[in-house]
Amino acid sequence: MKILVLNCGSSSLKYQLINMEDESVLAKGIAERIGIDHSFVKHESEGNGKVVIEEAMKDHKDAIRLVLEALLDENHGAIKTMDEIRAVGHRVVHAGEMFSGSVVINQEVIDALEECSALAPLHNPPNLMGIYACQEILPGTPMVGVFDTAFHQTMPADSYTYALPYEYYEKYKIRRYGFHGTSHKYVALKAAEILGKPVEELKMVTCHLGNGASIAAVDGGKSIDTSMGFTPLEGLVMGTRCGDIDPAITTFLMEKENLNYKELNNVMNKKSGVLGISGVSSDFRDIEEEAEKGNERAQLALDVYHKRVKKYIGAYAAEMGGLDAVVFTAGLGENSKTSRAEMCKGLEFLGIKIDDQKNDVRGKEAIVSTDDSRTKVLLIPTNEELAIARETRSLV
Ligand code: AMP
Repeated sequence: MKILVLNCGSSSLKYQLINMEDESVLAKGIAERIGIDHSFVKHESEGNGKVVIEEAMKDHKDAIRLVLEALLDENHGAIKTMDEIRAVGHRVVHAGEMFSGSVVINQEVIDALEECSALAPLHNPPNLMGIYACQEILPGTPMVGVFDTAFHQTMPADSYTYALPYEYYEKYKIRRYGFHGTSHKYVALKAAEILGKPVEELKMVTCHLGNGASIAAVDGGKSIDTSMGFTPLEGLVMGTRCGDIDPAITTFLMEKENLNYKELNNVMNKKSGVLGISGVSSDFRDIEEEAEKGNERAQLALDVYHKRVKKYIGAYAAEMGGLDAVVFTAGLGENSKTSRAEMCKGLEFLGIKIDDQKNDVRGKEAIVSTDDSRTKVLLIPTNEELAIARETRSLV
């Protein structure tokens, strides 16, 4: 069974064609600059290398059409006929309180997701465009929606309720939703497998530390709390997002800097985080390099980042009443041994002991704590596409 996984952004579309017999990636790529000039598809398939296809794409329908042409191409394709695509799995960011798991997409689901667009105006509309385009181009091929928010729907009310007038929850559904759910679930299940224990018996903190970053308390395989909230702005310090700040800073800055809400949103989402503190870059590789050269603000950005993660690990251990494992994943979590070590430093009282030699690893599954560490620390590369493909297979 072959499954096409689609992740549609506002002007991009990432795709993977996965063979579910052995979970291998047959082809993958990205269509970029959709609806803008100079659009192109970067495509690669197993055994055929990479190609760049430069062609105008005025919308997501054009993009999907080009992707399918690439998949069917004699030279760099991966399938002979469209029928080989058994189903399409769509990454959808926000399903509000509607769905706590993946679902087969039908009109009712589409209507529900349209309703959720108000909660994720930047993300859901392009996700829906991908769904509409597939309906037209691949009619009859089943589609499954896999939601970033679904895994966190198990959070209890005392985790997801904000201390605002309750009517705002009732009127506008303002509450914590959490994101990166597909990734948190994938690494939590994988960690249980590596540790050889049923996930139901484990208390874990999963740390997804990429460009966007979030952390989750996973108790018995269920998310009971997570750092991202109503939007992906809350929680950890990120590449360009501020994460937790005193909410009063917003109104103060609006007044002092004469910012309107859009400008302020831009500051908090695009100009803050480690970029804002360091003034160097949003990429940790650049910041680590600058810090090593003695750049104090780069070092401060790293220190603030690491401390925030550490605070959440401690808070979630307290919330769960114990901790069996901490899992690091995504760009920084998978690649930076110094960051992993810094974030775990001082957590020995929680039974965490990093093994410097085992921690000298990147991008592959590994236990990086010492053999006698009561709480295990793991590095698990996330694979959201495979997780989406698995969910899709199980539903079709
Ligand atoms: P992601 O969103 O998961 O693709 O993560 C992207 C981020 O991971 C980049 O912005 C970098 O900050 C970080 N990253 C990737 N590779 C490394 C590395 N070798 N060392 C430190 N940080 C890295």
